[in-house]
Amino acid sequence: MMKSFRIGSLFGIPIKLDLTFLLVLPLFAYLIGAQIEPVADILNEFLGAGIDVSYVTGGLLPWVLGFAAAVGLFVGVVLHELGHSLTAQRYGFPIDSITLWLFGGIAALSEMPEDWRQEFNIAIAGPIVSVLVGVASYVLFFLTPETFGGARFVLGYLAVLNVALAIFNMIPAFPMDGGRILRALLARGRPYPRATQQAASIGKLFAIAMGLFGLFAFNIILIGVAFFVYIAASSEAQQVTMKAAFQDVTVRDIMTTAGDLHTVEPDASVAELIQRMFTERHTGYPVVETDGFGGERLVGLVTLSDARDIKPVERDAYTVSEVMTTDLKTIDPDSDAMTAIERMREHGIGRLLVVDGRDEWGSEGAFGDPAPRTDGDLVGLISRSDVMTAFDIVQKSGSVNPSSQPRAGD
Ligand SMILES: [Zn+2]
Repeated sequence: MMKSFRIGSLFGIPIKLDLTFLLVLPLFAYLIGAQIEPVADILNEFLGAGIDVSYVTGGLLPWVLGFAAAVGLFVGVVLHELGHSLTAQRYGFPIDSITLWLFGGIAALSEMPEDWRQEFNIAIAGPIVSVLVGVASYVLFFLTPETFGGARFVLGYLAVLNVALAIFNMIPAFPMDGGRILRALLARGRPYPRATQQAASIGKLFAIAMGLFGLFAFNIILIGVAFFVYIAASSEAQQVTMKAAFQDVTVRDIMTTAGDLHTVEPDASVAELIQRMFTERHTGYPVVETDGFGGERLVGLVTLSDARDIKPVERDAYTVSEVMTTDLKTIDPDSDAMTAIERMREHGIGRLLVVDGRDEWGSEGAFGDPAPRTDGDLVGLISRSDVMTAFDIVQKSGSVNPSSQPRAGD
């Protein structure tokens, strides 16, 4: 992910700098410094700045002023993000950090509010702060005597930039604030997932328009932003849709039940295992040991990648018990489908054993000594493809199991 380091904290929120930010800060300083003359002209014309252009363009001053304005701009961005963060904190949402990166700032909320009023207030707080920073810059600009041409340039420029930042952020596309404001407003009259999808569609249209405009104007930054907005809109919509689709779906609803489960014996050879995987088209098997008295014991899980670690010529000589995983990750059948996805992602694995009565097994399914007996405890297996198939069905039909009654406690 992003490489960032902490530079301090405000109101208990860590402020971090991403490495990409260190590239963009000198770039901004350079761009502002290089355009100091036309910008000073504009400030003189529209704000009556009275800046002596030959003074501010002399010697190293353009670069000093460019750097000061760039730093000031990013201070404005931090204040904008603080606006979001402090509003979110007021509603009880913890803020992990504020990070400055290539495209400005990100306030990392651990979770997103689904109450439209809260989302609206959190989203609009940033642009409001930017407008206030712009106004404050203007007041300081106004109070600074005309003899301080450099300071008037920086303050006047910051007044314009912060208001521009507020306007840019009101573009109704994720991840811009305008996208969240739009979703909040849409969510007043319809379910949150539908509001998200509509807001995402509008955002994608904006992204495409922005990208086309950038293409015709040969503006690479605009194309980059458009691309970023398009990706963000898609992923936001997908995440929310998935969460909504699986709202009432438990692991039990979508797992492969124990009765349908193909298992393998620990003393089967790896060659036999691969042959079975090939004919049954499964890539993961629970390893179950029979004790000769009709009892069964779950001893591990073996996957195609475990088997492939053995060279083809040696596959007859190795048994399943030598390659299987004994550090088993389990999940309760009554857990949410979303929890199963998160646990797979967290452990970087493709399947979980579904085990009833997790208390007896230890929360992570510690298969210590003596190995616990299955005795009906292993109720199924859930794989990433089970989840994706179920998601597909939910999206197309609206439900995994149309006959299922709403469960108690929902
Ligand atoms: Zn914002």
